[in-house]
Amino acid sequence: MTAAPRMSLPDGHLIQRMPAVRGRLSADAPLAPVTWFRVGGPAEVMFRPADADDLADFLAALPAEVPVTVIGVASNLLVRDGGVPGVTIRLGRGFTDILADGMTLTAGAAALDLNVAMVARDAGIAGLEFLSGIPGTIGGALRMNGGAYGRELADVLVSATAVARDGRRLEFSHAGMGFTYRHSAAPEDCIFTGAVLRGEPGNPLEIARRMAEISDKRADSQPVRSRTGGSTFKNPEGHKAWELIDKAGCRGLSIGDAQVSEKHCNFLINNGTATAAQLEALGEEVRRRVFETSGVTLEWEIKRIGVELSPSPPRGEGRDEGVRRQPNAPAGGSPSPQPSPRGGEGETADGGHA
Ligand SMILES: Cc1cc2nc3c(=O)[nH]c(=O)nc-3n(C[C@H](O)[C@H](O)[C@H](O)COP(=O)(O)OP(=O)(O)OC[C@H]3O[C@@H](n4cnc5c(N)ncnc54)[C@H](O)[C@@H]3O)c2cc1C
Repeated sequence: MTAAPRMSLPDGHLIQRMPAVRGRLSADAPLAPVTWFRVGGPAEVMFRPADADDLADFLAALPAEVPVTVIGVASNLLVRDGGVPGVTIRLGRGFTDILADGMTLTAGAAALDLNVAMVARDAGIAGLEFLSGIPGTIGGALRMNGGAYGRELADVLVSATAVARDGRRLEFSHAGMGFTYRHSAAPEDCIFTGAVLRGEPGNPLEIARRMAEISDKRADSQPVRSRTGGSTFKNPEGHKAWELIDKAGCRGLSIGDAQVSEKHCNFLINNGTATAAQLEALGEEVRRRVFETSGVTLEWEIKRIGVELSPSPPRGEGRDEGVRRQPNAPAGGSPSPQPSPRGGEGETADGGHA
């Protein structure tokens, strides 16, 4: 067991109140390097539990008033520039096992979706190919009901395990997950630790062919090498978000280095030095313009967490300040490929969002 580090930190830092753990605790841990957007401030405390028991014991002993946030590989997250107060939990090695048994797969919540798809392929389990195109973890897919190309997690989930904020172990049946489009109604504060998924018998070669198809389609239609967060907004009932955004003239719109992708205009990208505030302000500007042109209110699909460094620009008046339109410009050169905090999974994007 390791107690929380106590050296060279200001008196009263939250980390000094942390229970002893077997995993890793760090103070003021930078989050930007582990997010797809590469923006955002630090986690006040970062906890990487050794395993599910470590996580449960930690949460049971953690004072109830300390806020807890869980992140996967942050492919659907915009971390604000002021960072995340409280404890941010990131599941690691103790949660990455994937086991095939017949047509069933048991996967830890930190397992990458792509790795789950590959294990399914090798075991001749069909129906999970869509996961190969979602660059997140099973934990993120459970929370978001991740999906692409006409399938979503709800189609393959049998059950999920989790730990509640007070440390209790929970198990959710499929019905208990309350899945709707890109959403699960499972309590917001529970941390998923694993899932049981089911597919049907398939030929590994045929499954591999479908996975390659998914990968090609994404490379063709999406900014797969950019610093992005995937689809920014949910598709409103009866509409495609990208079409509304295009119609509102937002393709290529930018604030500083934050830009609406020229390639797929439901993606925001960081061309280098964008801040979270600029990305968020750009998203809000897109929402405003779409409402103006179509009367539709776009709902953020990307989760925004943490606190702002300084207030964002006021809505309405003055919002166009600093907003540039770059018609058909290739986003200021090609952004460098993402360095990989994600263990080398294929960088793909979500044209499969139906
Ligand atoms: C290029 C690109 C393409 C994408 N394509 C698709 C696509 O086709 N389809 C699609 O659905 N999404 C897509 N996304 C979005 C994203 O990959 C998915 O939403 C993914 O499921 C998020 O997983 P994550 O591990 O990165 O979660 P994060 O982004 O880290 O977190 C997302 C949410 O899940 C919660 N969460 C994460 N782990 C856990 C856990 N263990 N327990 C409880 N809550 C947890 C977080 O608190 C947060 O609310 C894309 C993103 C990018 C960057």
